[in-house]
Amino acid sequence: MQLHLYNTASKKKELIVQPEGRPLGIYSCGITAYDYAHLGNWRHYVMDDLLIRTLKYDGYTLKHVQNVTDVGHLTSDADTGEDKLEKGARREGTSVYDVARKFERYFYETGDKLNIIRPDVVTRATEYIQQQLQIAVALEEKGFAYLIPGDGLYFDTSKVANYGALAGFKPEGLQEGARVEKVAGKRYPTDFAVWKLEKPGENRQMVWPSPWGERSFPGWHLECVAMSLDQLGQPVDIHTGGVDHIPVHHTNEIAQAEAYTGRTPFVRVWVHGNFMRIDGQKMSKSLGNIYRLEDVLERGFTPMGLRYLFLMSHYRHELNFTWESLAAAQTAYDRLLRSLAQDGRTRESGMVTQERLDKAQEYREKFLAAINDDLNSSAGLAVINQILKSNLLPQERYDLILDLDDILGLDLRRQSTLLGRAEQLEVVLDDDGEAQRLLDERTQARANKDFARADFLRERIEALGYQIIDTPTGAKVQKRRV
Ligand SMILES: [Zn+2]
Repeated sequence: MQLHLYNTASKKKELIVQPEGRPLGIYSCGITAYDYAHLGNWRHYVMDDLLIRTLKYDGYTLKHVQNVTDVGHLTSDADTGEDKLEKGARREGTSVYDVARKFERYFYETGDKLNIIRPDVVTRATEYIQQQLQIAVALEEKGFAYLIPGDGLYFDTSKVANYGALAGFKPEGLQEGARVEKVAGKRYPTDFAVWKLEKPGENRQMVWPSPWGERSFPGWHLECVAMSLDQLGQPVDIHTGGVDHIPVHHTNEIAQAEAYTGRTPFVRVWVHGNFMRIDGQKMSKSLGNIYRLEDVLERGFTPMGLRYLFLMSHYRHELNFTWESLAAAQTAYDRLLRSLAQDGRTRESGMVTQERLDKAQEYREKFLAAINDDLNSSAGLAVINQILKSNLLPQERYDLILDLDDILGLDLRRQSTLLGRAEQLEVVLDDDGEAQRLLDERTQARANKDFARADFLRERIEALGYQIIDTPTGAKVQKRRV
């Protein structure tokens, strides 16, 4: 099968073609490593993972590159405010380097729990300072950038004919396209910082010498240009990000890359995941609704229950997260697991019939047609549920669904095996003794801040068919109603 993906740039679904003689290059904007990744982030990275898994299943060969922003992302995307990393370091009372590594590690380890395949290459902005500097110098030499003394080197957006095309700005709309705060000395409101100078008294931890000042650092939109051109070359086949990246970050990546190389396009296909709301509201600190995966687990849900919820909606639609919707997704996931565990155990032998082979093939094609049509995962899940109810033999259903799970990434083989074992164990587990014993051990591990061990024990408890419930009098184990 071949994948069709909606391209933000052309506003059409386009066929993804395997380039000749090299892997298909995918660049995904990674995290700014200054805080814990939240559910909105995870929705997006599960989409990226669905894309990667689909391409792999279809037989494309890939190179997936993802960056980690560990310098230069200011609190406003428009070059004003503090550097998020420096701010994070002050909050944590540690060095910027330690903050960045801490949240980067958290991001990839939590991604593992959500069964997200790690990128082939992870690049850090601080490891690309020289490449970024080289591009900045070239942009100034070619007349695309100008210096605002005491502030930094700015990109002159009037110098590129199609500036803002990705976001659909019209040239005459550039004034109101200015989502940016006023920076004194900018020629056009949409001009943006390529390279920044440290302000007097700022005392940044991360600075490098440049032709414009001894203590300076790259602007946020430059790193993705340097890394993607270095790792993948131009054009990048697919570049992913959130819809919030379209008007500023990705628009400015395009302007810099195309001005630097003198060639278009920088990227063939732009893919953007939509926002997630929580209870109909924007995620914000003041509403206290910036949830992490840990918040989901504390309430007795599993990472795969959350992943199932994400897959129930299309990535280009806004998703409204509620605890009720998560509960419904968890129930659907648990039901799927229980069915599979049962099918996996049933050694019902039957004649292989052409009719059933055809039927299985029909389901497979229906599933793949849905997924390859711009990653329609909710339609894919509907096909999975049809397979479960079908009159295929248990073993046939089991094999087919596990095969398709290479795309969904719901960890069905391992989870259904664990559940199957737990169900067999129930014969001997006539009380909650073992689960309670593991819970006590986990409580102790958490008290000792041995979170890896605590996580392991949680998995053991869940494998026994229990969930951990937090109550005012402490954690309890409860048999999961699957
Ligand atoms: Zn980026």
